[in-house]
Amino acid sequence: DSTIDWARVRADFPLLTRQVHGKPLIYFDSANTGQKPETVIAAVDDFYRHHNANVSRAVHALGTEATDAYEGARNKLAKFFNVRGDELVLCSGTTFALNLVAYSWALPRLQPGDAIVLTRMEHHANIVPWQLVAQRTGATIKVAELNERGELDLERLYALLTPEVKLLSLAHVSNVLGTVNPVREICREARKRGIVTVVDGSQAAPHRVLDIAAVGCDFYAITGHKMSGPTGTGALWARREHLAAMPPFIGGGEMIKEVRFEGTVFNDPPHKFEAGTPNIAGFIGLGAAVDYLSSLGMHNVEAREQALLAHATEELSKVEGLRIFGEAKEKAAVISFLVEGAHAHDLATLLDLEGVAIRSGHHCAHPLMHHFGVAATCRASLAFYNTHDEVEAFVAALRKVRKLLA
Ligand code: PMP
Repeated sequence: DSTIDWARVRADFPLLTRQVHGKPLIYFDSANTGQKPETVIAAVDDFYRHHNANVSRAVHALGTEATDAYEGARNKLAKFFNVRGDELVLCSGTTFALNLVAYSWALPRLQPGDAIVLTRMEHHANIVPWQLVAQRTGATIKVAELNERGELDLERLYALLTPEVKLLSLAHVSNVLGTVNPVREICREARKRGIVTVVDGSQAAPHRVLDIAAVGCDFYAITGHKMSGPTGTGALWARREHLAAMPPFIGGGEMIKEVRFEGTVFNDPPHKFEAGTPNIAGFIGLGAAVDYLSSLGMHNVEAREQALLAHATEELSKVEGLRIFGEAKEKAAVISFLVEGAHAHDLATLLDLEGVAIRSGHHCAHPLMHHFGVAATCRASLAFYNTHDEVEAFVAALRKVRKLLA
């Protein structure tokens, strides 16, 4: 924290200077999507202004520049996560990445009698694809439950890992509770039992030092727009043997070597899974985002966000009638809460008038809401570009609007 001038870092994000309803914006919705630094915006702009062409097709200079920049972004991402570029499938985000595993890995393999294990804290993107596959294969879904702090009950999780379980898919970090799951340990236990593991890293990649190779999973999904990159970018990392064995998910150009009406020879991974023209400018922007985060150092990002989380948690705890959902020992800077006597949407709507952007609702996690017996929560999610002053102003605004609802 000490080596970085966070006020200067914040100044890299042009959007954060704007006003909303005549008030300075306090953006506390980074778990939903992150804001973008100038360098990312400039990289996208530069591509369209000076290099725009399609990738992997044309031999002309622009085509080569576009392909080099796109593949360069893949390699930056791979280096950032300590994995190989040819094991990284670029796609539109975590939702696509998880569906790719569901349709290409699970659908051809699962049978009646097989089981998939998920957890109570999953985002719908890590529930619905498995339900669709379960319906088509006759497999069943089992759910790992949480303790009262909103952490996975590991003993009960391991007890679920019986011989019929073929796959375990879980979030690295919960988008609602902020809980950081011990994915290394969990993947090790699953692997011992021959169970394939999928980790949804949407909320981990933007906030933590992330060494995917060290996680020990089979598949790891990330989404670019939450890590300062453009929307419509993301990746699936997979072990090479899985990518080699999996059939393509989407067919089209780029993913083939030779097409005849009698049959088609597919391209090598990862291109086998990247049909059609990709979000070239988006990935170039994501490459710039990775450069940006690397220049800050993810350990610094993590420390900064932990300090903001501690401050916000302390201030919110002083608000009478406020309940925080999720008090995991290891937690990311996401705070779900409710205030007695106030609906989540009403609070969020009134806070918006004060310039504060938080999310309210079910956060794409209906089963988790059922667990806590609520229909919705408010969620303040912080990032390194937020400030301690914003934390104070947010809590002051919350106290003010809460009086209006009493
Ligand atoms: N999983 C988690 C834990 C998430 O927070 C999100 C985004 N809110 C997703 C999956 C889906 O990501 P995307 O919409 O970028 O595909």
